[in-house]
Amino acid sequence: MQRCDVGIIGLGLMGSAALHALRRHGCDVLGFDPLTIGEARGSSHGSCRIFRRFNFESEAYTALSDRAHAGWQALESDSGRSILKPCAVLEAGPAGCELVARSRAAALAASNAVTGPRNGREANRAFPAFNLPDDWDVVVQDSGGILMAEEAMRAFRQDAESNIIAAAAELRPEPAGIRIVTARGEIMARQAIVAAGPWIAALIPGLKSHLTITRQAVGWFKPAKQETVHYGTFPIFILEAARGMFYGFPDFEGRGVKAAQHDHGSVVGPDDWEPPADDAELEPVRATLVELIPGAAGPILERDICLYTNTAKADVGLDDGNEFIIDRLPQDPRIIVASPCSGHGAKFATAIGAMLADMVLDPKLKTPRPFRLDRFSSFA
Ligand SMILES: Cc1cc2nc3c(=O)[nH]c(=O)nc-3n(C[C@H](O)[C@H](O)[C@H](O)COP(=O)(O)OP(=O)(O)OC[C@H]3O[C@@H](n4cnc5c(N)ncnc54)[C@H](O)[C@@H]3O)c2cc1C
Repeated sequence: MQRCDVGIIGLGLMGSAALHALRRHGCDVLGFDPLTIGEARGSSHGSCRIFRRFNFESEAYTALSDRAHAGWQALESDSGRSILKPCAVLEAGPAGCELVARSRAAALAASNAVTGPRNGREANRAFPAFNLPDDWDVVVQDSGGILMAEEAMRAFRQDAESNIIAAAAELRPEPAGIRIVTARGEIMARQAIVAAGPWIAALIPGLKSHLTITRQAVGWFKPAKQETVHYGTFPIFILEAARGMFYGFPDFEGRGVKAAQHDHGSVVGPDDWEPPADDAELEPVRATLVELIPGAAGPILERDICLYTNTAKADVGLDDGNEFIIDRLPQDPRIIVASPCSGHGAKFATAIGAMLADMVLDPKLKTPRPFRLDRFSSFA
């Protein structure tokens, strides 16, 4: 039987990043995934994700963002590909809103001077596509970027064809190793990383009660005023609006303005990628663009569905939920699980891949406390 040191189940952004990091350490590693890059499945599919240095979710993420940023730059230089396009990130909401206050606090905690528009009136003047209420709070971080998600996966997997088996895998832990079973044969690995995105609970059933998968509708909108939303003149935006939180990108690929609502969709299963996003699902996005970004608010040109894998609140340690899971299984430390989604994991993939590789190389290494499984009583 074929053997390897490490088997990685799932080669989305996280598994591909781990594969890349382990290969750089000279590890004998195999990755398994039935999907090819470009298929409209898996939470990493599609052209882009937002990179933010300062995260409204927690200022504790700044260090991870910085490690990831260095990783993206190294990946660009190693692969010769353009992966992280610099782009300012504008966050806005009604006066006193938490989104802006938390991002601003994260920037100040990192001793980063906050410059640029501070309210709706100034933002509308700087970026004429907007029509924000004059008294809205605004913060702009100029250290953001457009992360080219599929291009990043291509870069992670560059020259790694012989390390990839294009098949779904099952895990069978045995005393002699982790048996990885696929339709194309069986491999015995000393350790396994499971980074299977929304499918992860099929491989690690103990995670099921801590994860909820939601259907997220995404649209590309024909700009009403093209000249106001070009990449270079218009920022990434995140708005805490009346209908919820909305985000989007400048028209950087000639497809229109990609925009969506954050964390809004119905609960689904990991195989529920159909039907395509309909007009009703995208109506809150369209209505928000009409109200707050009229320069972007034309007809819908393209649509997509992506799935969030959302983590439940901890019941031992305290957190607000939506925190990543990156840890060894307590019942079998040879198996490392990585579920960093909740709609904001992509930007950290280089750092998380490096973290997963470090865990493989040092069996005693622990991940940061917020990512550990023992925050749930079922794993404590
Ligand atoms: C609409 C949307 C917008 C987002 N926006 C942002 C953003 O702006 N910024 C940000 O930082 N993050 C964002 N995210 C989150 C980010 O995309 C995810 O954190 C990230 O893609 C998760 O990657 P992953 O590798 O864990 O999972 P996935 O990409 O889902 O990869 C899992 C892989 O496992 C494979 N797999 C499953 N089962 C098996 C098996 N049995 N055998 C072998 N392979 C298997 C699948 O085929 C798949 O390729 C967004 C997510 C969505 C859905």
